[in-house]
Amino acid sequence: MARIVMKFGGTSVADTDRIKNVAQRVKREVDAGQQVAVVVSAMAGTTNQLVDWTRGIARMHDAREYDVVVAAGEQVTAGLLALALQDIGVNARSWLGWQIPFATDGIHGKARIEHIDTTIMEERFEQGQVAVVAGFQGIGPDNRITTLGRGGSDTSAVALAAALRAERCDIYTDVDGVYTTDPRITSRARKIDRITYEEMLELASQGAKVLQTRSVAMAMQHGVRVQVLSSFVDAPGTLVVDEDEIVEQQVVTGIAYSPDEAKVTLVGVPDRPGVAGAIFGSLADAAVNVDMIVQNVSQDGDATDLTFTVAQADLDRANHVLEGLSDELGYKQIVADAGVCKISVVGVGMRSQPGVAKTMFQTLAEKGINIQVISTSEIKVSVLISADYTELAVRALHTAYGLDAEVVG
Ligand code: ADP
Ligand code: ASP
Ligand code: MG
Repeated sequence: MARIVMKFGGTSVADTDRIKNVAQRVKREVDAGQQVAVVVSAMAGTTNQLVDWTRGIARMHDAREYDVVVAAGEQVTAGLLALALQDIGVNARSWLGWQIPFATDGIHGKARIEHIDTTIMEERFEQGQVAVVAGFQGIGPDNRITTLGRGGSDTSAVALAAALRAERCDIYTDVDGVYTTDPRITSRARKIDRITYEEMLELASQGAKVLQTRSVAMAMQHGVRVQVLSSFVDAPGTLVVDEDEIVEQQVVTGIAYSPDEAKVTLVGVPDRPGVAGAIFGSLADAAVNVDMIVQNVSQDGDATDLTFTVAQADLDRANHVLEGLSDELGYKQIVADAGVCKISVVGVGMRSQPGVAKTMFQTLAEKGINIQVISTSEIKVSVLISADYTELAVRALHTAYGLDAEVVG
């Protein structure tokens, strides 16, 4: 018998009617003879509300208690979907992260799954029972609830599919696949039938939140066949596959944007060995991830300016760390700017085709958009620009790389 994992995101379970709709989709797979594990997210808006409440009580909150609060949303959906399935005659039982268990490391708020014990689930499959699993949560070495970072139900689903050796992991969401860019930004975005793990990984890590980055890394590592599709329309979605399964490779496959960035400039940093190590070492120790970095050439050999980006959510912590280094480093000033956006163009074809960055810089220049920081990898070029120009930049680049859908009529 084939086994599949089906995952439903927040919009797909936003109210009880939609949960009933999900139950019907699950029933279809069960009737077709599949063993099914379903992973659910919290109902749309719920996790945001829970996060707001924790912040309202304590801005620098205790991460263990944060996890207790924000994991609650998925518990509700899992119970409701199990009920909806039972109501239409499908044998189903809900499971929370700790009950399976989904064993994670102890990094509360951003935990990584280390092991999933599938014993109970496999026993219940033999009895014809569907497992409805609360996504986004696990249990840490301290025996407390952990969560996997925002959007983490995708990772719960892929990890479960790997552990169960499932034939497919279907990620149901509010769009019918992965597009050349966020379809909310331009109506000209095109659905991609097949995308490589590598490209999907870059797009996700550069801001395309349709899949959580870790879920793609895990799918790539374990060879899980992931499909992204709509829970509202019956149509094939996008398959995430190995590069050799794609016949015609585009130079640029997609464009991602990330508005959740903040730019930090340290003005007047002494130009001597060890300074960058002290700054970035201290930020890493405080679990602040640094993304793009530029260091200006010092004019006088004494001092220079150092600019880098961090996630907006980490800006307070980054400032705190840097203020703590003020006496040691003797820099002049910290300037922070949260009004920036990172735009990235991604495609494996870039490896063999020069000129991708040139097109990007020219296109932005023609629109009068100033580039603040640049970074590149083998299959990606990213630039940091003012957040005011996000939509203009994405649309212009989408056209420049020939990604626009043909206008019908
Ligand atoms: P879910 O709640 O189902 O997990 P998400 O909101 O996390 O759904 O992800 C789906 C959203 O991702 C879409 O509504 C879309 O706006 C956004 N998105 C961003 N980039 C892309 C892209 N390249 N292709 C498709 N969707 C994208
Ligand atoms: N509910 C969690 C979130 O909103 C996890 C998820 O939806 O994947 O981030
Ligand atoms: Mg999501």
